[in-house]
Amino acid sequence: MSAKFTTTNPATGEILKEFPTAEDTEISALLDASDDAFQKWRTTPAVERTIPIDRAADLMDERRSELAELLTLEMGKLPSEAEAEVELSAKILRYYARQGPQMLADETLSPASGGHAVLKREPIGPLLGVMPWNFPYYQVVRLAAPNLVAGNTVILKHASNCPQSALALEMIMRDANLPRDCYRNVFADNDQIQTIIADERVRGASLTGSEGAGSAVAAGAGEHLKKSILELGGSDPFIVLDADDLDSAVSAAVAGRMANAGQSCIASKRLIVLDDVYEEFVDLLTDKMSQFVAGDPRDSATTLAPLSSEQAAQDLMEQVRDAIDHGAHVHTGGQRVDSPGAFVQPTVLTGVTAQMRAYAEELFGPVAVVYSVKDEDEAIELANDSSYGLGGTVVSDDVEKAQRVADRVDTGMVWINQATWTEPDLPFGGTKRSGVGRELGAEGIQEFLNKKLIRTP
Ligand code: NAP
Repeated sequence: MSAKFTTTNPATGEILKEFPTAEDTEISALLDASDDAFQKWRTTPAVERTIPIDRAADLMDERRSELAELLTLEMGKLPSEAEAEVELSAKILRYYARQGPQMLADETLSPASGGHAVLKREPIGPLLGVMPWNFPYYQVVRLAAPNLVAGNTVILKHASNCPQSALALEMIMRDANLPRDCYRNVFADNDQIQTIIADERVRGASLTGSEGAGSAVAAGAGEHLKKSILELGGSDPFIVLDADDLDSAVSAAVAGRMANAGQSCIASKRLIVLDDVYEEFVDLLTDKMSQFVAGDPRDSATTLAPLSSEQAAQDLMEQVRDAIDHGAHVHTGGQRVDSPGAFVQPTVLTGVTAQMRAYAEELFGPVAVVYSVKDEDEAIELANDSSYGLGGTVVSDDVEKAQRVADRVDTGMVWINQATWTEPDLPFGGTKRSGVGRELGAEGIQEFLNKKLIRTP
């Protein structure tokens, strides 16, 4: 049996490197170390805490290509996308290094009954982060950057298929002179994750990943009366109301669906198009989706990367086959790419109905489902007929109309005339089964703080 923490090249299926799961004694020592580090880090002035975080941002920029190569190796990401992820991660580190201290400043309150009150923002302790493989650096810094600046310490359990990326990030923190135990990577199994959550010194847990994993981590945190933040799956609507430049709208949909080979929580998974432009939209989409070139992601001609694993490709194909078997229409794709590696053809499906798995489930790969609707109300009804509520897009030449529709879409984020994305200073998160809480922006740093009231007469 292969080790749990393994680098497998998804473009070839070759197992490249394995790492042992931690011993229980290592977990115990790690918990001691993380708490010891917290006791010193919490009293370090916030401005001093920003110094290694700022330095970590610079190191990510300096090491951009080698860090990006690891992403391509471990999860098949195209080099351009891998470099963009490293760049974004550096920006997030720098954003909190520069802006974090002012977000932690004391707030003077004015009690209605007179006198004075101050709200202080204090760190709470070691935190556990459990992260997925689809954006191995970005997901981690979303949690680590604000919390390290805030004075918490972080124990990071990364996905089992990106161990080298996990270690590279730990090395960045170390080389940036962050005290060693303020940020520690751990190759823990699910039982050990629960041990970490249960330890009374650990004060919170944050998970980005699937609903099942989120539920397991949140249940553990709940049992031990700790806060958890969950960033889970999505099936974002991309609503097209009208567009003089339909070609640009379709390009935005393709970008939103195909980024990271479709393996993004905020991908534009359900394309909901008004009747007037539906047929032309499907034709343009089919044309653009059929132009992707599968291949080794390191080859500059490649525009379609493999999925992160053979299992991921098989799971996606089961969902596609279920739709086809129940009568969905395939405009392009619908099959595996005829080559080794975890490739699935970019696929456009129409005629998907509520009886098919593709209607309600998240499609985590290059498969777009297009629906036709008669008007705005029907578009909103379909958009909201989902257990997910992460992001979404509304396209219209009339921006005010798009904003009105956005107000009625039941998700945590809606982007007008562009696919949902992420920026260091904007809050990120969902509602319904897409998660609990927010990361990034001023909101992100507030999640794991003790907002302590000091009342004076
Ligand atoms: P996953 O299986 O849930 O894995 C995510 C992390 O959770 C990994 O570190 C995994 O460890 C761990 N994990 C799995 N089962 C666990 C359990 N029972 N207890 C504790 N930890 C557990 O997620 P995935 O399917 O690989 O990732 C894709 C999902 O993440 C999609 O649904 C996607 O939409 C979502 N996602 C959400 C966001 C967001 O911000 N909302 C961002 C990115 C991805 P192992 O690898 O060791 O199993």
